[in-house]
Amino acid sequence: MDQHSKTARRQLAGVCVKNLKNNGFAADYFETVPEALAFVQNLIPAGASVGFGGSETLKQTGILDWLYENKDYTVYDRYHTDDVKKVFHQCLMADYYLMSTNALTADGHLYNVDNTGNRVAALAYGPEHVVIIAGTNKIVRNDEAAVNRNEDVAAPANNIRLNMPNPCTEYGRCMHCSRDTTLCNQLVITRRSKPVERIHVILINEELGY
Ligand code: SF4
Repeated sequence: MDQHSKTARRQLAGVCVKNLKNNGFAADYFETVPEALAFVQNLIPAGASVGFGGSETLKQTGILDWLYENKDYTVYDRYHTDDVKKVFHQCLMADYYLMSTNALTADGHLYNVDNTGNRVAALAYGPEHVVIIAGTNKIVRNDEAAVNRNEDVAAPANNIRLNMPNPCTEYGRCMHCSRDTTLCNQLVITRRSKPVERIHVILINEELGY
């Protein structure tokens, strides 16, 4: 991202953070991944249980590697288990749940599309704290643009990554399929955080995830 794009994204992130706070979310902005990572590491107290949703952003930021190496936490690890369903249920009872978001809007909403629904379930209810980590590339104008972003950008890339036999992998955009193999079963807008500040959004001025 060049300096002018970074500046524009910084301005937009400022609007987004302000409106997220108006909607009951906690929200913080960081210029770089290392700054954001240090903040998250301080946020989660020793002894906490931590679960996380499937996310390229969590992998790219190194937060999963940090969790794996840290012995201070009980980590519910979906990637290293022979019982994923059990881990998904443990995550719903976790002290902290980490995830990214498919999009967030300048007016302060989150938008997420899920396959099994484990991630949006944890977002809506269960874990005491939910921490959303997202690049400023995920910010869009409004709910309609969030749907469009998912259909035009995030979902096709995710289907291609997972080698899914769905039409978006051929056409590079959502074709609104209703196949059994679709990854798009739950479409969830989170308008507000309830309880207030249960959901904490960490915005980073970098290109992260899809
Ligand atoms: S609904 Fe079907 S075509 Fe659209 S993004 Fe999801 S899997 Fe792809």
